[in-house]
Amino acid sequence: MSDTAAPQSLYIDGKWVASSDGGTRTVTCPADGEVVDVVSEATAADTEKAIAAARRAFDEGSWSATPAAERGDLLLKVADAMAERKDEFARAEALDTGKRLVEAEGDMDDIMNCFRFFGKIADQHPGRLVDAGNPAVISQVVYEPVGVCGMITPWNFPLLQASWKIAPAIAAGCTFVFKPSELTPHTAILIMDVLDKLGLPAGVGNLVLGAGAEAGAPLSSHPDVDMVSFTGGLVTGKKIAEVASHTVKKVALELGGKNPNIVFADADFDAALDNALNAGFLDSGLVCSAGTRLIVQDTIRDRFVDELVRRAEGIVLGGPFDEKAESGPLISEEHRAKVTDYVKRGVEAGATLRCGGDWGGPELEKGCFYRPTVLDNCTLDNPAVIEEGFGPVITVESFSTEAEAVATANHTEYGLAGAVWTSDRGVAHRVSRALRHGTIWINDYHPYVPQAEWGGFKASGNGRELGHAGLEEYREAKHIYENTEPAVTGWFPEK
Ligand code: NAD
Repeated sequence: MSDTAAPQSLYIDGKWVASSDGGTRTVTCPADGEVVDVVSEATAADTEKAIAAARRAFDEGSWSATPAAERGDLLLKVADAMAERKDEFARAEALDTGKRLVEAEGDMDDIMNCFRFFGKIADQHPGRLVDAGNPAVISQVVYEPVGVCGMITPWNFPLLQASWKIAPAIAAGCTFVFKPSELTPHTAILIMDVLDKLGLPAGVGNLVLGAGAEAGAPLSSHPDVDMVSFTGGLVTGKKIAEVASHTVKKVALELGGKNPNIVFADADFDAALDNALNAGFLDSGLVCSAGTRLIVQDTIRDRFVDELVRRAEGIVLGGPFDEKAESGPLISEEHRAKVTDYVKRGVEAGATLRCGGDWGGPELEKGCFYRPTVLDNCTLDNPAVIEEGFGPVITVESFSTEAEAVATANHTEYGLAGAVWTSDRGVAHRVSRALRHGTIWINDYHPYVPQAEWGGFKASGNGRELGHAGLEEYREAKHIYENTEPAVTGWFPEK
């Protein structure tokens, strides 16, 4: 980007443009506070322009009429183009988020898999015939694209969360306006560059960068947007659903989680311990499905928690390119202040701070680091157990019976994910079915595959991403009833 001219990082109607008022935002790396870049900051009017472009491109009809197999091919090409530029994508993600490069590289692999999955299923299940009970009738259900989609995404897995929306929207024949988090815009710019170079028709995909209340708001309020798909926090999600209700648009929400990680005494101790660290502290706990509620059987509780604390104290923090680092920073000072307050309130409510609860040593002071934290002796009414802290903080509760483990794990307004650790497969499957959460791991934590649906029960959201349901979110079912032998009905006989 030039230092003098306003950056042109909005992609509207097939062109890279500056914000209409010349506004910009400086993006910094949360690991060291260094400036990454200056990008355009869209106004609400810019977003309205992008919506108009997406509306025109959809209403013209040529994109939705493009054979689904061709749209699928485009997605496969996106994955190939990303593979060629993987290093560039991963470095951009690492600099914006501060996460370790190796984690960003893993995210890029997941993103390519997502594009490939939706590329392959784009032309599957085009519709079905149904039996109307009359041989003269051909009754078919076909699937149409929903239309213009607004997509709003968070900063923790910036391009990954976006790919779960962009890939199925393209597969379904929708057009879209995408607003990533204002804190992490760079992989959004890169993916639109890929789509532009691959010849996505003008107006089909649009990118606006900027703050939620300004650049994002029209995506939930504007009557020309048919669907808003949001991933982010519960408070914002509720606001978006409320505003969207005025135009009765389709709403898909992927919100937060307060995810139980249940460890029975008969589990493989070392694997359960290692994965408890991974569940809570991977990516600094900045994972919607992070296993932040450790619920451990009372007979192994003390030994398990002592070991967890010992191992958590040894986790090395550092920036994206620090090869010794095992975990990175939080996203901003503002976010670190929230995590600090969350831990403080947890301790005030009776939790025991076993480790962490501070910002780390002087070598970390330029970044937004927060030490892996364990809050022991937590009760169901402790705010640290109730609220999503969204940081590297594990709360510890214990149980004696299977029924108690299930009741404790379900005692949350959220329902995104959870895990059960046991060597008894009967227990594992009973508990898995009883948990009111959208993803359950048995003797594992975190893996997911694009073929399987992802989403939340209860306040963790509605709708599903990934899997076949992830494509259905972007399609409307339509029933076409054809009578091949038209006849008078006789309801209103001629008099
Ligand atoms: P956030 O809700 O603060 O922001 C998310 C996005 O919404 C950002 O792009 C923001 O600019 C935008 N936004 C804010 N106000 C808006 C408004 N009024 N209108 C339109 N857009 C608006 O969330 P965050 O802090 O960026 O992300 C962290 C949250 O995301 C956590 O709660 C986490 O659990 C959740 N998350 C959920 C999943 C999932 O799959 N369920 C995945 C990742 C993150």
